[in-house]
Amino acid sequence: MTTEITEILVIGAGPIGIEMAVALKRAGMDFIHVEAKQIGATIQWWAPGTRWFSSNERISIAGVPLMTPDQTKATREQYLAYLRAVVTQFDLHVRAYEPVTRIQRTDDGFVVTTNPRAGARTVRCRKIILCTGGTERPRTLGIPGEDSSHVSSYFQDPHTYFGQNLLIVGGKNSAVEAALRSHLCGARVSISYRHSALPAKHIKYWLTPEITGLMSSGRITGHFDTVPVEIKPASVVLKCTNTGKLTEVPADFVLMMIGYLADMSLCKLAGVELVGEQSVPLYDETTMQTNVPGIFIAGTAVAGTQMGYRVFLENCHVHVERIMAALQGRHAPAVHAPNAMPET
Ligand code: NAP
Repeated sequence: MTTEITEILVIGAGPIGIEMAVALKRAGMDFIHVEAKQIGATIQWWAPGTRWFSSNERISIAGVPLMTPDQTKATREQYLAYLRAVVTQFDLHVRAYEPVTRIQRTDDGFVVTTNPRAGARTVRCRKIILCTGGTERPRTLGIPGEDSSHVSSYFQDPHTYFGQNLLIVGGKNSAVEAALRSHLCGARVSISYRHSALPAKHIKYWLTPEITGLMSSGRITGHFDTVPVEIKPASVVLKCTNTGKLTEVPADFVLMMIGYLADMSLCKLAGVELVGEQSVPLYDETTMQTNVPGIFIAGTAVAGTQMGYRVFLENCHVHVERIMAALQGRHAPAVHAPNAMPET
């Protein structure tokens, strides 16, 4: 197995990984960039036509304007095209489908093993920048029937649910967005949520009136204070969180919109300390360097698995600036106001 030598290995090619790579390239630094899947992989999951909640200027990267033909927020398709364009414009060599399987520390850096389809290879580097994101895979409940083919954790094309009974589990933005779009697409939608009402303050303000109206008029059914305990081929058994009473509701399809988990396995492999239930990595906020000298972290991975989302693409751009300052021996930049602001 041949070993390549580089100064910096960037792992992950979501928006922040790509923004990081552009910054390194502009600074003339020597780096290799690998990505376990395709660039922007977690955005590729989204249903066709899904629009970002965030404003275009807050999700644009590397100073490249993100414009849409009708000035609306970018769709999944527009944003993936934008990412491809940025990678092409800056002639970035992202090695897609090349997962990292091992990170070993050496006296002067790291030896990293990757496993692309053609066979394992190793990279020797002095620094690693982890841009692995915070939503690698969906949370699961571990209940019977959850792995059936009519159950999914990814809201795909709502056309799938036309004329069907669709049960959505969860009560925040993904659940509400999927419920509204599927309803408008002709599905009979019901929502199982573990509390007594949808959490309005955690749902985008423009979605709340519509979902509230549809639920109060009975066009979308709410099964509040319930959690699913078993998924059958055409129904789901719900358990009341207050009384334990079981009810069975019809469901030709089930969408588990119960959040996502970060994959912190590379942090573990590298010896980065992970704190608490959410596996938040230990890092210095001014440089983004973790407790392992030479390993930096950027993007939503800094928050591990988030329970209430506070770290988004929108407020992660500054990580790139901080890492560049650290690599170039400059003072960390001040956090500018837009980066400090909450999600739009
Ligand atoms: P989320 O905010 O983590 O919400 C997960 C939902 O599942 C919550 O209602 C939660 O209940 C429930 N849940 C979690 N574990 C559960 C369990 N064990 N049993 C039953 N219910 C459980 O995830 P999300 O809605 O997917 O949103 C993730 C992020 O993506 C957010 O930042 C959101 O704004 C963003 N998003 C963006 C777009 C867009 O840009 N178009 C669309 C959708 C989502 P609790 O309410 O009790 O916590």
